[in-house]
Amino acid sequence: MKPRPVGDLSSTRPPSKTAAMDVVATNAQVRASVAAARSRGLTIALIPTMGALHAGHISLIDAARDAFRVVSIYVNPTQFGPTEDFARYPRTIDADCAVCRQAGADLVFAPADSEIYPPGEQTRVRPGPLADTLCGPFRPGHFEGVCTVVAKLFNIVQPDVAYFGQKDAQQALIIRRMVIDLAMPLCIEICPIVREPDGLAMSSRNAFLTPEDRARAICLYRALWVARDMLTAGGSNPGRITAAMRAVIAEHADIKVDYLSIVDAANLRPMESLAGKILIAGAIRVGKTRLIDNMILELPR
Ligand code: AMP
Repeated sequence: MKPRPVGDLSSTRPPSKTAAMDVVATNAQVRASVAAARSRGLTIALIPTMGALHAGHISLIDAARDAFRVVSIYVNPTQFGPTEDFARYPRTIDADCAVCRQAGADLVFAPADSEIYPPGEQTRVRPGPLADTLCGPFRPGHFEGVCTVVAKLFNIVQPDVAYFGQKDAQQALIIRRMVIDLAMPLCIEICPIVREPDGLAMSSRNAFLTPEDRARAICLYRALWVARDMLTAGGSNPGRITAAMRAVIAEHADIKVDYLSIVDAANLRPMESLAGKILIAGAIRVGKTRLIDNMILELPR
């Protein structure tokens, strides 16, 4: 056997936290597995997903590397409106489990509907005004569905920390608010947006794009950059900046804008003076596919 050169640690793996990744479907199984991990002194991390996993999701699994990592995979019906893409949302559970295993997850929780919404269920978690702006008006009930399922996942898994992506900036803020408001005993970590080489934010919905739509979809990211450039050059009129963003999208006659907004990154409110932490956010519809993206910019006060 060829000896490994001294000092080459590239192939030295830390000992794995469990012998193998389990895939479970019931709340009771998750609780037993998490209790066993906790009794071994491990921190418990939850990475909630709807599956069709990509490098964005993997970055969240990576970020939790020191913990016992539970990835939930559940396409939550209550966060989809009646005319949205619940039925056609990609469901790729076998490939997703392989991705999780490769990424070093310890447990995949892929529940049946009856575990999350038991017979007779009727309780919902309703977010406050943070949910009334940006995506809120275009997706009535969406954030109530998100809060409800995330609260349930927190109660089932009881993680010490949960990981979310900045890609869904409004969702991340709403979840942080929920955790504080409902005194939930865990930390929320928000991880940066992972992008394709051309800048398109990775999304499970990108798989719906035809090659032509995929090429045009990049206009949202270009519009964010236009706003960013104007802001860093001292632009101070939000209306003028969002008009410039709209002009970028308008190059593609058939792409519809849901919104293009510049708001306070802390509370999603319009800003009187553009200073401090700013969120530039947008949502567009390319064909039948709705895409969102955002950037955070810190401007001098
Ligand atoms: P989803 O499966 O779309 O519900 O996303 C599950 C989690 O992954 C959410 O916290 C998302 O914000 C996060 N996520 C999705 N896409 C990305 C991305 N491109 N970069 C970073 N995080 C992401």
